[in-house]
Amino acid sequence: MRSWILFVLYIACCTAFPAVTQTDIDKNNEAFAKEYLKKFYNLEEGGNQMSRQKRSSGFLDKISQMQDFFGLKVSGRLDEETIKLMKQSRCGVPEVGSFSTFSGNPVWKKKDLTYRIQNYTPDMTRDEVDQAIQKAFKVWSDVTSLTFTRIHETVSDIEILFASKDHKDFLPFDGPSGVLAHAFAPGDNIGGDTHFDADEKWTTGSIGTNLFLVAVHEFGHSLGLDHSKDPNSLMYPIYRYINPNAFQLSQDDINGIHSLYVPKEKPVVPTKASIPTHCQESISFDAVTTLRGDILFFRNRSFWRKLAGKSEVEQLEIRSFWPSLPTDIDAAYEYQRKDRVLLFKGTKFWVLRGYTIEEGYPKSIYTLGFPKTVKQIDAAVHNEEKGRTYFFANDRYWSYNEEKSQMDKDSPQRIGNDFPGVANKVEAAFRSNGMIYLFSGNQQYEFSTIKKKVNRLLKYTSWLNC
Ligand SMILES: [Zn+2]
Ligand SMILES: [Zn+2]
Repeated sequence: MRSWILFVLYIACCTAFPAVTQTDIDKNNEAFAKEYLKKFYNLEEGGNQMSRQKRSSGFLDKISQMQDFFGLKVSGRLDEETIKLMKQSRCGVPEVGSFSTFSGNPVWKKKDLTYRIQNYTPDMTRDEVDQAIQKAFKVWSDVTSLTFTRIHETVSDIEILFASKDHKDFLPFDGPSGVLAHAFAPGDNIGGDTHFDADEKWTTGSIGTNLFLVAVHEFGHSLGLDHSKDPNSLMYPIYRYINPNAFQLSQDDINGIHSLYVPKEKPVVPTKASIPTHCQESISFDAVTTLRGDILFFRNRSFWRKLAGKSEVEQLEIRSFWPSLPTDIDAAYEYQRKDRVLLFKGTKFWVLRGYTIEEGYPKSIYTLGFPKTVKQIDAAVHNEEKGRTYFFANDRYWSYNEEKSQMDKDSPQRIGNDFPGVANKVEAAFRSNGMIYLFSGNQQYEFSTIKKKVNRLLKYTSWLNC
């Protein structure tokens, strides 16, 4: 009965005030997708000369081409996943169509290159900008025989500029988010130059857009690299935050740059090459959880497992344990009362009982009560005493009542409000012996929820027998 009344009200409401309909959303998405494909996949405007049919098939072909590039299901339709990917912040250099001033695949014909920083962003100190840029060039000079020298007076090979909207290269920026930066392939004049969208919020950290991470990618273009399909590579077009201290070029990037330039004679090998990966200072975890007494530390495609009561650590592949799980897990926690472990990636989550995935998953995180603005969870941990699970997302945390299966009304709160002393972005968290362990940057915090304060600071890898 109730639903019938609602139905009537709904009709009444919608007749009186025409609301945004699904058709409107579809139309908006289509217009958005067309712009996207024009910019990045060379979709042609198709004026009067082109038949309607040809225009439409051009559009569908370009959707397929984009889906293929990003490894999505190639349906040629604007499905939700495709639109979602199109809305992510990215590099302005297209996947299809040349962004170089010359045809072919230009490279620098000299090995000693110069750069100049023309202006600064007010979001960061000048020192921070200088360092981010220098560090970004070093990534490339560490693997090639190229050198990068900063000059101030005369025009350099790679001119660096912060600019907003139209900035006289016929490639206007688009305001906050969307396109973050672009760079031109090697060549004279504008060749090699790198432009950052001044309307982004540039930072040294994880909130906003990390200048170092974008700069390394753009300088890849300045040296002649194109976008890569490999989601683990730096030259993947979509922006993703990773801890800059843990930053590493992927093999795909290294192969790419070595196809253009001579490798460094004595490649810079990490000084502590004999140290196992999980003990290296640059390590960062995607997620950590207990599982029936074991502790699992997730990182990219693998996880390290510390078995209950043992000190040894074994490295395992996510795929070999759970072929249907994605890699790069965002967050995980154990709810011991129900003997379940929940794993999160993007807006989906999976449930494990022991090492087996429960049927009926993945489910959407919105079934837990998150608003649609939350697209990703950074870390999660269950606090048995309070019967609450804490979900960390950016600088906020959400408190979830497991008993009632609902979000607490006062969620979200700033992390700093209830976790004083902890960084305002948490990468991973788990609970052991009544303490919560939170990972951020290169720190690990032992937090007492009873005393509501940080008990001790620990080495990031203190659990891994390093
Ligand atoms: Zn790019
Ligand atoms: Zn530009």
